[in-house]
Amino acid sequence: MKEIVPQPPAIVHNEAAEIQSLFHQNVVPSYGRFDLVLSHGSGSQIWDVSGKRYLDFGGGIAVCSLGHAPAAITEALVEQSRRLVHVSNFYYHAPQGRLAQALASLIGPGKCFFSNSGVEANEGLFKLARKFGHDEGRFEIITTVNSFHGRTLAAIAATGQEKVKKGFEPAVPGFRHVPYNDLAAMRAAISPATVAIMIEGVQGEGGVTPATPEYLLGLRQLCDEKKLLLLMDSVQCGHFRTGRFQSYQRILEGVPGGDKFMPDALSMAKSLGGGFPIGAFWVRQPYADLLGAGSHGTTYGGSPLACAVALKILEVIQHEKLVDNAREVGGFLKTRLQELGQKYPGIIQTVRGLGLMIGMELASNIPAFAGEGKTPAVRFTNLLHAAGLLAIPAGTQIIRFLPALNLHRNEAEEGLKIIESVVANLAG
Ligand SMILES: *Cc1c(COP(=O)(O)O)cnc(C)c1O
Repeated sequence: MKEIVPQPPAIVHNEAAEIQSLFHQNVVPSYGRFDLVLSHGSGSQIWDVSGKRYLDFGGGIAVCSLGHAPAAITEALVEQSRRLVHVSNFYYHAPQGRLAQALASLIGPGKCFFSNSGVEANEGLFKLARKFGHDEGRFEIITTVNSFHGRTLAAIAATGQEKVKKGFEPAVPGFRHVPYNDLAAMRAAISPATVAIMIEGVQGEGGVTPATPEYLLGLRQLCDEKKLLLLMDSVQCGHFRTGRFQSYQRILEGVPGGDKFMPDALSMAKSLGGGFPIGAFWVRQPYADLLGAGSHGTTYGGSPLACAVALKILEVIQHEKLVDNAREVGGFLKTRLQELGQKYPGIIQTVRGLGLMIGMELASNIPAFAGEGKTPAVRFTNLLHAAGLLAIPAGTQIIRFLPALNLHRNEAEEGLKIIESVVANLAG
């Protein structure tokens, strides 16, 4: 007898196409989006509208610290929204004060300012630096090549990548770029107008490149010597991702003098809110009161709701020891990817990173990616998607893995199998 397979109803069948067409007609096309229409998730799993399941190693670009739809966030949102959602920064409220205290206790003596995003946190640091140098006429901030600091006009001026600046000239003045991990270049770039240095502890968008311990310690010394602020953009590499709260704490583990290292200020966002928009910067004494009343502000930043969520995330990370998980599962993933690279040197060039911030650099001449078209990183990511794994491309050759901090080891193993299947296929 002939089997009759019922067709799905047309509306379900076309859901992806319909949603994509809504975007094409109504959403500013400033993103090159992947051909995926996502519906719902749970932990490190996510489903598209057709019901296909993916393992998520992209984590919404290092944002979903507890994975998708975590009960803890729902609880915090429900509980806090029943009390107070928003009051503005004209008033005091418990969640903001408590969150500032919690963050400072993880970094060092200092104070916090709350924003809604990473770029706003960086903007606050730029203003802090300008205020610091204002009376001496110093204003210039030196950043590094391949850095990424966000998309506002000041942040694209700060970012050391031409592609984010093109078409938006004239640039905000006062930013210069020097090669990363090059202390001599930094020293040589300092002028009488220089007021601060800003670096990422691990360059994220630039391709997952950690700072060396010598670089961090050298920059600290240089900033002390020249009276510069050392600013760290910890938006992507912060919040326990590297296996310590801050990447510099991980990088300087066991290094003589490392436990005394501290930047003057640092920015946070991404994993801080687990998907609820919140950013922050921390600034140490004696600079914590530089931005006095009326000098900086935001309507939404540090709302009771956002801070309650961030506090809950901190509580879960601590209670479930996710910093150890990031270190262990991240270390396992990196080792296995490095082994994969040794097995398939024609496909994988290097694997680097710390904790659950891993970059896999593809070989430069993979035959399947020859010719015109999308970058190898995007083409490889498309293959991963087809095989059931989400990841984030960086630059033209690098695949980033930035999964939830509670990624299970068996999920890491499942992801590795998927990555290996794609790599083996490409190796032919
Ligand atoms: C994502 C990112 C930013 C910008 O954060 P937004 O929340 O997108 O404004 C800034 N710096 C780094 C290092 C980032 O990874």
